[in-house]
Amino acid sequence: MGARILAITNQKGGVGKTTTTVNLGASLAAAKKRVLLVDLDPQGNATMGSGIEKGALSKTVYHLLILEKKLDEVRMMSPAGGYDVIPANRELAGAEVELVGESGRETRLKEALHSVSGEYDYILIDCPPALNLLTVNGLCAAHAVMIPMQCEYYALEGLSDLIKTIKRVRANLNPDLQIEGLLRTMFDPRNTLAQQVSDQLQQHFGDKVYRTVIPRNVRLAEAPSFGLPAMVHDRNSKGASAYLTLAGEILNRHMQQVNR
Ligand code: ATP
Ligand code: MG
Repeated sequence: MGARILAITNQKGGVGKTTTTVNLGASLAAAKKRVLLVDLDPQGNATMGSGIEKGALSKTVYHLLILEKKLDEVRMMSPAGGYDVIPANRELAGAEVELVGESGRETRLKEALHSVSGEYDYILIDCPPALNLLTVNGLCAAHAVMIPMQCEYYALEGLSDLIKTIKRVRANLNPDLQIEGLLRTMFDPRNTLAQQVSDQLQQHFGDKVYRTVIPRNVRLAEAPSFGLPAMVHDRNSKGASAYLTLAGEILNRHMQQVNR
C-alpha cells in the first residue's frame, strides 16, 4: 500500500501550517511510521525547522518540480525529526512563473512522489500561504487536505476561499481529494471569541474538526530556532504532547477507515 499523502494548507499566513507539518511528522515518526516531509514553501521554514540549513542546499524541491530531477537526488534526512525531507529555499519562488507555460504543471509533484510512495506511511506537504500553483501541486498530489487554523474572526471567511479552491481542484484535477480535518492551532481557551469560532467550526464541520486542540505554547515557537521538533526540544511541553496526541488521533482514524 502506498503512503497516505496529506497537504497541510491554508492560504492565510502564520496559522501554524509549518509547525504542524514538522511536529506531526516527528510525532508520526516517533510512532514508528515512515514519514516524508515535502517543503513546498520558498520560505523554507519546514526545512530549517527540520534541522536542515536551507542556504547550503545544492538541490531542492525546485529541482524536482522544474528540472525533473530524481527524487533521490533531492531527498535528505532530518537528523532530529526521524523523517525524510524534500527541502526548499528561495529558489522555489521562481518556480511558479517557470511552470506556467509547462505541460502538466499542476501535477509535477504528484508525478515526482509516485515512485517513492511505497517507501512511506505518510507524506506531509507543507504548503505556502497562497492559493497559487505550488499549493495546487500540493493539492493534486494529496489524498486529503489538513487545514490548520486559528480561531479568529476572519478565519471562517478565509476557509470558504480554501474550500472553493479544493472544489475546483476536485472538479478538474484530483476528483478524490478529501478534507482530512481542521486543526485548531494556537488556541487560548480563555479567549471568548476563540471559543465562539471554535463552536461555529464544530457546527459547520462536525467530526472533520480534530478533537485534539493545539494550545499556544512557547516551546513550539522556539523549537525551530534550534532546528528541532518540539518533542525533541522539550518532550514534556504542552505543545509537544498536543502534537503527539494529534498523531494518535490521526492513526486511530485511519485504522478505523481501513477496517471499515
Ligand atoms: P506561513 O503562512 O508563513 O508559512 P505557517 O502557517 O506555516 O506560516 P507557522 O510558521 O507554523 O505558520 O507559525 C507562525 C508562527 O507562530 C511561528 O513563529 C511559529 O513558531 C508560531 N507558532 C505556531 N504554532 C504555535 C503555537 N501553537 N504556539 C505558539 N506559537 C506558535
Ligand atoms: Mg509555513
